[in-house]
Amino acid sequence: MLRWMIVLSGLATLLAAQAEQPGYDDTPKLVRFDGTELPWRVHDRVRMRPPKVVAECVRAPAPMDSILLFDGTNLDSWRSGQSAARWKVEDGLALAGGGDISTAEQFLDLQLHLEWRAPSEDKKEGQARGNSGVFLMERYEVQILESEGSVTYADGQAAALYGQWPPLVNATAPMGCWNSYDITFRAPRFKKEGSLDSAARVTVLHNGLIVQNNREFFGATAHRALPRYAAHGAAPLRLQDHGNPVAFRNIWVRKLVDETDSIPR
Ligand code: MG
Repeated sequence: MLRWMIVLSGLATLLAAQAEQPGYDDTPKLVRFDGTELPWRVHDRVRMRPPKVVAECVRAPAPMDSILLFDGTNLDSWRSGQSAARWKVEDGLALAGGGDISTAEQFLDLQLHLEWRAPSEDKKEGQARGNSGVFLMERYEVQILESEGSVTYADGQAAALYGQWPPLVNATAPMGCWNSYDITFRAPRFKKEGSLDSAARVTVLHNGLIVQNNREFFGATAHRALPRYAAHGAAPLRLQDHGNPVAFRNIWVRKLVDETDSIPR
C-alpha cells in the first residue's frame, strides 16, 4: 500500500511539474507539406527546449557551445592526410602551404566562422591570386580568393560556390585586410539506396553581408565539369592549399542538430 502511495505521489509530482511547463497539450499536431504528421503539437508543452548558451551580455568571439578549430596557437584539430597538419603557425596565424588540411572531426550540419587574409601577390591574377577555399564535408567549396583588386570568372571569385553560384555581391576587403566568413550549412540527405533526397544548402555572410542566401549546391565542387552528388555520411571540413600562402585565424564551428532527421519518412 505504502509503495503504491509513493508511486502515485511521484506520478502526481511529475504531472504537476509538466503542467507547470509553458505550452499546450490540446493543440493539433504539426503536419509537413507532404501530409506527414510530426510528433510535436503546435506550442507543444513537452517539446525539448533548446539549451541556453549565451551566459553573458558580451558576445565572445567563439560561443560556448562551439568547437574551437584554431585559436592562433596550434593546428591540433587538423590533419594533413593521416599526419599532423603541415601548415605553418606563426604570429597567431595559420598559413596555407604543404597541401590541404582537414579536421580530425567529422561534421554534418554546421555553423562555421573563420577569418582569412590574402597574401600580397600583386603580380598574380585571377585564380592564381590568394586562392584557397573552405570545403564543406570535403566536397562543397566556398571559394577564398583575392577578389578586390583582381578579376576572375563570376562563379570563381571570393564567396562563390565554386563553379556553381557567384556571390550576390563582392564583399572582399582590400588586400592586406582580413575577411570573415560566417557559413550555415545543411548537409545533403541521401535515400537508403544512395540517391539524393535533399541537396546541400548554404548561407554565407562575407564580412557581415549575406552573399549566398540558402543556396543549393548542384553537387560536389568540380573544375570545368558538372558537379554531381555521390552518397556520403558525415565528413571533415577541409581548407585548401592552392599554392598561395593565405592566412587564417579564429576558426570555430557549431554542430547543428536537425530534430526532423529522427522522424521516419
Ligand atoms: Mg579555391
